[in-house]
Amino acid sequence: MKKVVIIGGGIAGLTAGIFARKNGFDSVILEKHHTLGGECTGWDREGYHIDGCIHWLVGTKEGTPINELWKTVGALGEDVKIHHHESFLTYEHEDGQQVHLYRDLDRLKSSWLEISPEDEEAIEEFCNTIEKLQSFEIPVGKPMDMMNPIEKVKLMLSMKDAGAVLQKYGKVGLTEYAKNFKHPALRGVLETFLPDGYSASMVFFALAGFTKNQASVPGGGSRAMAMRMKERYLSLGGKIEPNCEVLDLEIEDKQVKKAICSNGKAFTADYFIAAIDANFFYEKLLEGNYPDPQFQKRFEKPEDYPVPSELRVALGYEGIPNNIPRTLRFPVAAPFEVNGQTIDRLQLTNYNYEPQFAPEGKNFFSVTINQFNDDYDAWNELYKNKEAYRTEKERIGEEIVKAIATRFPEMEGKLKVLDVATPKTFERYCNSYRGGIIAFAPTLKSKSLDHPGKVKGLENLQLSGQWLQGTGGLPTALITGKASIMRLCKKEKREFVQ
Ligand SMILES: Cc1cc2nc3c(=O)[nH]c(=O)nc-3n(C[C@H](O)[C@H](O)[C@H](O)COP(=O)(O)OP(=O)(O)OC[C@H]3O[C@@H](n4cnc5c(N)ncnc54)[C@H](O)[C@@H]3O)c2cc1C
Repeated sequence: MKKVVIIGGGIAGLTAGIFARKNGFDSVILEKHHTLGGECTGWDREGYHIDGCIHWLVGTKEGTPINELWKTVGALGEDVKIHHHESFLTYEHEDGQQVHLYRDLDRLKSSWLEISPEDEEAIEEFCNTIEKLQSFEIPVGKPMDMMNPIEKVKLMLSMKDAGAVLQKYGKVGLTEYAKNFKHPALRGVLETFLPDGYSASMVFFALAGFTKNQASVPGGGSRAMAMRMKERYLSLGGKIEPNCEVLDLEIEDKQVKKAICSNGKAFTADYFIAAIDANFFYEKLLEGNYPDPQFQKRFEKPEDYPVPSELRVALGYEGIPNNIPRTLRFPVAAPFEVNGQTIDRLQLTNYNYEPQFAPEGKNFFSVTINQFNDDYDAWNELYKNKEAYRTEKERIGEEIVKAIATRFPEMEGKLKVLDVATPKTFERYCNSYRGGIIAFAPTLKSKSLDHPGKVKGLENLQLSGQWLQGTGGLPTALITGKASIMRLCKKEKREFVQ
């Protein structure tokens, strides 16, 4: 039996492992951490469960190819409840006006028309574009590099609505697009939907998926989903080596012979799949000896290809808040600074739909603040002084508690900071480039990537995972993990088994 060593046990590595076993390969996953799931994880603190990832999972709509794929790898299934929250987010303007991005598109439209009848034309256009884009499904079949010309043409034709939206809005910034609306609150929800410099097309893709129930939240959260995939992998006979960070590859005659781990163990195989961070892969594991022009271009121009990260503050609350939507963006009464950036708005996520995330009678919340290049550099510098790093995290936690208690006075004295994760946290745990939580941001200057993961000059090694396509995220990890095994089956002249 041919053997495959998979480096990294995130969603891509687990998916590759599951399909490796289904297709008759001996498989072992080498994971740096003591647990699997990579960025799709959660951890426990003081009786609370801190969900560390999924805000929205694309692939929750029954009967669609991506939903079937999530079920095949055990992430979703009959016994997994899906939470279809009523609103993608609720934006609160400075004057208190709330704008809801409802799942029900008719409701979204009528609520926006109620706020601003004079924006009728712009609202119609907004909702029609979302509706049109609902036909778009992420392709989960063969990767492009395995398709023949006819298959490529068919794929292009199936994506014509997405192509039209990209053509119209791909190079329009959110701030620019928001100017189509006269009402300040409608402009506000669009301007702040994503950070400055992002393409307006992202709003349409996000809401098209959401309004057709294709983007929802699996019950139990991120860690539970990763653990279901781990169980599926083990049940198929897959092997796992935790606490096994691969730091070196032994290479001979264009072939990787061995993966050598931090704990001294070495693993031989016929094939190697690195389901890890792309920068770590090219720069550290391959020591810069096999540079890839597409990635080089992106690593060398971080201003054009920023990597999104987050400050994620976990909070425990002594009470059950039923008056707060799942995701609320509200203005901060007394703005504060983080790395020189003024924080005048916070995004609060309410997990009251998962009572087991908190002790009885209590509730878990998280607050997220977007972080980019300069933020990462500032955290990286601060991290050199652990005491200063810890103090700064505490200060931010306190500012956030203050801001929430000002907005919701009934919460005063009942909030507790459980944890503050910074870009350094994601880097430390997952080796993620500049603390990235997804791949390169879709900005007005950036070009989307679709990389086959092949390494020029090495015949039995592939890169897999979120960095290979578009903006990354869980669906990309899933799709690229499967594609890695499809390529191995082709090499071995085997029919791929889904
Ligand atoms: C805070 C946060 C929120 C997010 N929210 C969403 C969301 O709402 N929706 C969405 O779709 N996506 C979201 N994402 C992104 C999503 O989690 C990732 O795209 C996805 O998990 C990436 O999977 P991956 O397998 O490609 O990589 P990773 O998760 O990075 O997995 C790589 C694995 O390899 C291990 N590893 C690294 N180097 C080595 C080595 N040298 N040797 C051995 N093991 C190694 C790491 O420990 C890790 O387990 C979020 C991410 C974060 C952090």
